[in-house]
Amino acid sequence: MLPDYRVRQRDYLLEISRALTEELDLDTLLLRILRIAIEMLTGHAGFIALQDEKHGWHIAVHEGIADALLNYLKNWLEAQPSESEDASEVHVPEINRMLNDISMGMLTGVGINMIFQKQIIGQIYVFRNYHGLFSTNDRMLLTSFANQAAIAVRNARLYNETREQSLRLEALLDSAADGILILTPELKVEHANKALQRLLNTSEEALLGKPFANVIRWANPPQGTTLEAAIGSGWSQNVQNVFYLEGDLIREGVREPLPVGISYGPLFSANGALLNVIASVRDITRFRTAEEMKTSFISVVSHELKTPIALIKGYVSTLRRDDVEWDRGVVSDSLAVIEEEADHLTLMVEDLLDATRLQAGGLTLKKAELSFPQLARFLADRYTAQTDQHSFAVDFPPDFPTVQADEERIRQVLTNLLNNAMKYSPSGEIRISGKSRPKDVVVCVSDHGPGIDPRDLSYVFDRFYRSDDVAKTTKGTGLGLYLCREIVRAHEGKIWVDETYKEGSRICFSLPREA
Ligand code: ATP
Ligand code: MG
Repeated sequence: MLPDYRVRQRDYLLEISRALTEELDLDTLLLRILRIAIEMLTGHAGFIALQDEKHGWHIAVHEGIADALLNYLKNWLEAQPSESEDASEVHVPEINRMLNDISMGMLTGVGINMIFQKQIIGQIYVFRNYHGLFSTNDRMLLTSFANQAAIAVRNARLYNETREQSLRLEALLDSAADGILILTPELKVEHANKALQRLLNTSEEALLGKPFANVIRWANPPQGTTLEAAIGSGWSQNVQNVFYLEGDLIREGVREPLPVGISYGPLFSANGALLNVIASVRDITRFRTAEEMKTSFISVVSHELKTPIALIKGYVSTLRRDDVEWDRGVVSDSLAVIEEEADHLTLMVEDLLDATRLQAGGLTLKKAELSFPQLARFLADRYTAQTDQHSFAVDFPPDFPTVQADEERIRQVLTNLLNNAMKYSPSGEIRISGKSRPKDVVVCVSDHGPGIDPRDLSYVFDRFYRSDDVAKTTKGTGLGLYLCREIVRAHEGKIWVDETYKEGSRICFSLPREA
């Protein structure tokens, strides 16, 4: 049979072990260990001191020590250099001597290092207020308490580190622009970041714990490998297991489905067990629109190119007929059409090239002194000769300043605006007007046509954009205003639709006055 104190000793150690797994608060746990140590060693007071990089040496918990003495100890400890190994060897005899002196020999103590990963992370002290030497057995006993306390500190540090890491991860997930879903191996939502909540128009509470299939709902069958199919094929740790899928998502309370691309892959533990499936969800609306634009652009451009080519070919084969003698008038009219259509083709190809060049970032300006009134009058004269339906007005104040600009390019801007005005207004006056302001000049082209639908306002300067109704009745590539905007921007100016003008459309641009 074990002697009585041995039994108690065993019970206490058991109790501490249990507390180690149950109690998460470090100070509560350390105090428990300290109290038991004091009791086991039939002491009256004690403390546990810890040291770490951040705080140096400090007293974590104490028991039965008068305030004045405690303050004294605290100050002394805090003044000790941290992270120095022998410092702690110095502490024990030093603290014992101090206490002995202060209590005039009434207190005797024992202190043991707490060691974790070969480093001294703290010390545990027990004091007696009667004169009795601590035996080897006492020291051994205190050592086992010191070990327990070291484990507690380690656990707490690990716990804090893990918590910090998971907070960091959460912050990272929430700052991500893509929606991210973390799924359990049973494919239930374990975490959904802010971006995903926004995409799905729902809250985290509504998502947590839900099966994947109830969260990611497709409006029509998606393209790519579905999650179910990927799982069916068996995740494997050795293979690059990232799958991609595109489709239209059904959202809570929103009628329009959202086009998204989802990539997902498994996360394995070190021993190969499936921990999570991570899905990242990206809104591909813009991408889709660009794709659609490209497709419609190709059809528009091929159509646009085909029309003049067909005309040219028609006239040429007519003129080449051997069986007919064409009189001079017909030949010259036909050649005029051929020339006009060839010019039209050249312009279109130039626009396309410009657009491509702009996208590659290469627009170099040849700036020189430019007089807008002069350029406007020249263009107005030229356009008057081309149309019976429209009249042209040029309206600039007499003191309109010259600006530094690339004349060729600015002429392109005005030509595009005038072409639009003629194309989209059946008749009436087209006015080129100018106004000078302290820092810039503003030039506008206005017409008396149907105007621009407010819904189209934010798009008309986009590449390939044409409003729906216009696209049905007129020809064009939707490049004109895009080129205008890029040219004006290259001059550090702005271009906009004047929304205050109600009699048709008025498009204005500004150019800075100083070079
Ligand atoms: P392109 O100029 O390349 O031949 P486009 O005229 O269609 O083709 P933009 O000049 O970029 O292309 O114009 C874009 C769209 O803006 C037009 O399709 C039309 O819907 C609208 N728009 C532009 N100017 C006017 C205007 N003066 N009146 C009404 N709508 C206009
Ligand atoms: Mg145009």
